[in-house]
Formats: sequence, structure tokens, C-alpha cells
Amino acid sequence: MDNSPYLLTDKQLIEVLCMTQSPTAVHVSEDAVIQAANDAMINVWGKDRSVIGKSLADALPELKGQPFIDMFKRVWNEGITFTGTDTPANLVVNGELQTFYFDFEYKPIKDGNGKTYAILHTANDVTERYLGRHREQHLIEELTATNEELTAANEEVRASNEELAAINEELQAITEELRLSEEFLQNANNELSASENRFRQLIAQAPVGICLIGAHDFMVQEVNNAYLQLVGRPREFFEGRTIWQIVPEAEQTYAPIMNGVIETGIAYAANEHRLILSRAGADEEVLVNFVYEPILGQDGQVSAIMVLAIEVTDMVTARKKIEQAEERSRLAVDAAGIGIFDLDLQTGIPVVSGKFNEIFDLDSPPGKDTIEPLIHPDDRQTRADAHAEALQSGQLFYEARLWHQNGPIRWVRAQGKVFYKSDNAPDRILGTVLDITAYKELQQQKDDFISIASHELKTPITSLKASLQLMDRIKDKSEQTMIPKLIMQSRKSVERVSALVEDLLNVSRLQQSDIRLNKSHFILSQLVNAVANPISIIAKHKIIITGNLELQVYADEHRIDQVLTNFLNNAVKYAPSSETIEVDIHTAEDYVTVSVTDYGPGIPFEKQQHLFDRYYRVDPSGHQGSGLGLGLYICEEIITRHNGSIGVNSVEGKGSTFWFRLPL
Ligand code: ADP
Repeated sequence: MDNSPYLLTDKQLIEVLCMTQSPTAVHVSEDAVIQAANDAMINVWGKDRSVIGKSLADALPELKGQPFIDMFKRVWNEGITFTGTDTPANLVVNGELQTFYFDFEYKPIKDGNGKTYAILHTANDVTERYLGRHREQHLIEELTATNEELTAANEEVRASNEELAAINEELQAITEELRLSEEFLQNANNELSASENRFRQLIAQAPVGICLIGAHDFMVQEVNNAYLQLVGRPREFFEGRTIWQIVPEAEQTYAPIMNGVIETGIAYAANEHRLILSRAGADEEVLVNFVYEPILGQDGQVSAIMVLAIEVTDMVTARKKIEQAEERSRLAVDAAGIGIFDLDLQTGIPVVSGKFNEIFDLDSPPGKDTIEPLIHPDDRQTRADAHAEALQSGQLFYEARLWHQNGPIRWVRAQGKVFYKSDNAPDRILGTVLDITAYKELQQQKDDFISIASHELKTPITSLKASLQLMDRIKDKSEQTMIPKLIMQSRKSVERVSALVEDLLNVSRLQQSDIRLNKSHFILSQLVNAVANPISIIAKHKIIITGNLELQVYADEHRIDQVLTNFLNNAVKYAPSSETIEVDIHTAEDYVTVSVTDYGPGIPFEKQQHLFDRYYRVDPSGHQGSGLGLGLYICEEIITRHNGSIGVNSVEGKGSTFWFRLPL
């Protein structure tokens, strides 16, 4: 035993161990009853030595709810070691529950059977370290966060800067834009005032009268010279006056119209309006075309009325004159029976007047080839030639017969003028057509008359010439017994010539209205006798005079003689086979009828109406006997001038009664 090493008792051993600086305790049982604890541990716990022998839960009641008591239980029961670093534990130290941080170990101490008989408990208070580290960590974190924040702030600042730059740029752009806008506005303003100037100039120089009138006060805002002239007022007169003060004479008619335009905003226009204006103190009637044009303000309401007015008096008067002249010429053309055509040379279609259609007997407007077939076949070439010639000479002229198969021949005369296009190509012919049938007939009559008259005159003159030649030849010879007969023949010829000449003279006098009646009272039957006697001596007819033989008339005896001579001579001449010729003087009411009846061939009914026409002869060939067709015409003129009437009753094959009636 002596040389055996010296061994410490358990108590000593624990005391030694308890001397260590590191807090150390030894626990037993699952309740972690404190077997031993060094001062360091007692300090950590914040208790005193009285805790020795107590369970951990009793010694440190504040551990309740913390994991440590359980851990001891498991170390004891399961033999496992628990270690921890920086593990927090709440302990009541100095009477105050505080949190401390420990690096600890609960280590089971096992016997040879592996059974835990003690738990070694070490715990280093690392609160300082932990908190230091934690603060550092916290600081670092804070710093990092601050840094991050700073970075973010920086970023934000950079972004803000960028934004600011962008805004700056934008601002610059806006400023530039603003400058341009200002410039534009200035230009626009300039342009506006220039345009306003132009507008004023325009108004001032416009050839129509313009007057701008305020819609609310009717004050004249603008007026040009043409308007001043129209209303006959000086410019000063317009200043500070309403339009109705300026032209009061127009208010009654025009104020309602203007008010209507202001109310509705619809313009009003009137043409050839009759208006009485006081110009230079005198009332004058003028014709005016005018417009009330509403001018809209920014509120869309009528703010002013622009009056545009132009005087058209002269124009309308001129137009009316032209219309009247046109009407007159149309009437004249119609009255003259002239048809008008306007022939389009491209289409060949004429545009014609109503009279044209009448002349050509057309029911509807003519087309391209309507006219040609209406022309007499013999005259179609004449017409075609005239049209061809017109294209050369510019003038159209032809006369042609119309083609009426059953009717009498009718003549037309066409006359026209060619109009050319700008390239000198013929464009149209404007012309007239005239029915010249009567003229042609007259011409024919004239030709006939000349031939008849010369023939009629030639016969007695030839006979007179022959008688004279014969007398000349025998004047010194023995056959002088013939002379009285020749003289007689000559006298007859001369009488015939002088009768013809007398007829011609009468006609020419009648035409000049040169027959003056030389009236006297005479017994009609005596005149009949005087006329009939010489005729009945030569003619073989018996002339019987009946009726009122005592009747006295008041008339031109010589002219009535002419009528009776003509009636009786005609009866002798045209009714040679009639044995008697009866002259009857018959009175009724207030007139006397003298009739001369023969029993000759009579006159066809249709010809009777023409007997008293000039140059009319029933048998134009002259076979019936000689005459110029003037006798009865002269008779009619004479009786008409006596306010009487004349006529014929005749039945073909039976005879004729020529009569005249004179008022008593
Ligand atoms: P003229 O000088 O030719 O005889 P008038 O005017 O005297 O002319 O007569 C016109 C026509 O009337 C004559 O051409 C004739 O044909 C017709 N006429 C006149 N009297 C008679 C008659 N008594 N009987 C038949 N025909 C007559």
C-alpha cells in the first residue's frame, strides 16, 4: 500500500475538478440532480452552492419550458451526448431573467456495462463572444443592407439622373417646339393679318356691292364702294348707324328677310329684285340681285350678315329688249310664213320651226333623210347641187317644187348661211324656207299675161299694118272702092288696140287706186240702150232690155257704161250661138240689180269663183276668143267702189247671167 500511488478521494477529485475555470457540473439521475458544480458554473447559473443536491428543475426553475431538462433526461436514459454552440438559455441572474449564450456539452459517463451513472456538464458562457459576433454580424448585415440601400439609392439616383437628363432633353425639345409654335403662331398671325388685309382689299375692290352687318346690333361693320354706289349714300353716312337707319326705305321689305337668315343661319338669295332707292335725293327704281350670307361666330351662332348685291337694271333692260326683239322677229318670221331650220352638217339632222313643218307638211320633227323625198324628183338634183355649192360659197339658195302626187304643185325657196367650226370646217347651215307657190303663180301669170297681151296687141296691129299697106298700094289705082272697107277695118283694129290699151290703163290706175268716181243722175235703161245699140248692129244677137226702164240712178255713168259694155261684149264673144241676150233692170228695197243673160255654153262651176280675178281666163289657150282676162276684174273694182256687188250665175251648157247690184 505504501508504494501504491496516492489516490484522491472522490470528494477531492471533484473539488479539484471544480477548481477549473470552465464552468463544470456533474449531474445524476434523469432529473439531473446536481452532484457537483464548480464556482464557474454556479456563477453561470447566477445561484449559490445551495443548488447542490437539487434537481436541475428545482435549482433553476426558469429552465422550465426550455429544452435543457429534456436533454438531460435523454442523455441519462439514452446515453447520447448533446453539444451546442452559441445556444441561448434564459437564466435568472441577479434576480433578473436574462439570456446567455453557451457552448455546452452534456456527456454521459458510463460504467463497464455501458450504463450511464453520471452526466458531465460543461458550459462556456460565450454571451460576450456571441453578442460581439452577433453585433458584428448585425453590423455587417446592416452595413450590407445600407450598402445595398446605398447601391439602390445610387441606382435610383443614376436612374433619376437619367430621367432628369431625359426630362431635360424633353424639356429642351418642348422649349424648341414652343419656340417653333411661337414662330408659327407669329407667322400665322402675320399671315392672318395679311389675309385679313387681302380680304378687306377684296371687299373694297369687288365689283359687287358688299356690306357686312352685325347680327346683334345691325351696325355696318364693313362696306365697299360698290355698295355705297348702289345705295347712293356716302361712306360717312354709314358711320355709327344701323343698316336700317342708312336705308330706311328698305327696312319694311328686307328686315324680316335678314332676321330670318339670322335665326335660321340659312342664306337668302334673290334675283332681279325690284327696289326703290333714294339716290341723290330722288327715288329710283332699280333691279338688284342679292344674297344675305350668314357669317357664323365661334359659338356657331350667326354673328354677322354679309350682303352681296349687284345692280342688274341695265342688264335686265337689255335682256328684255333682246327678248322683245326676238319675239318681234319671231312674230315677223311667223307672219311672213317663213320656216326656219338649223341643219347640223355632221349628223344631217335639222332642227326646225313649226312653220317649217307646216310648209313640208310634216307631223313630227324631220330626221336625217326626211326632206329629200319630199322634193319633186325633177328638182332633187337642184337641191343637192345647191347644198354642195353652199359648202364652197357659204351661201345656200334654191327653189324647188314639193312632191305631192295628187295635190297641186307647191314651190319652196330655201335660203341659208353656212357656219364654220374653229378649224374652218363647215358646221351647220342656218336658214329659212318660204312657200313661194303664190309668187311662182304670179310670175307665171305675169309671163302668161305678157305673152297674151303682146299676142292680143299684135293681132289688130298686124291687121292695121296690112290695111295701111294695101291702101298705100292702091291709093293711085282704080280699085279705090276698097278704101272705105280698109278704113273701116283699120278703125276696128285701132279701136281694138285702144280698148286693150284702155283695159291696161284701167288696171294700172286701179292698182294705184287712181279711179275717181264722177257721179251724176241718169236713167239706167237709157245707158243700157246706148251701150247695146252699137253692139247689136255689129253682132247678130238680139238684145232685149226689160225691167224698170224709168229708174234713175246716181252713179259714175262712164264707169257703169264700161261694166255694161264688158258684160254685153263678153256675152257676144263667149256665147256666139245665143240668139238673144237679155238685159234686166230689177229694183228691190233700196238697190237695183242689172243682169245680162246669154244662152251660151255657160261656165264650169269650179271656175266661176275665179272669173273676177285679174288675168283670169276660163280657157287660157285663148281658143274661146281674145281677151286679157282683165274685163271682169275691172268691173268688180268699179262696182265695189260704188259700194255695190257683182256676181255670176251660170250652168254649163245652158248659159250665164252676169249681174251687178247698186245701192239706190
Ligand atoms: P277677157 O278680156 O279675156 O274677156 P274678162 O275678165 O272679161 O276677160 O272675162 C274673163 C273670162 O270669163 C273670159 O276669158 C271668159 O272665158 C269668161 N267669160 C266671160 N263672160 C262669159 C260669158 N258670157 N260666157 C262664158 N264665159 C264668159
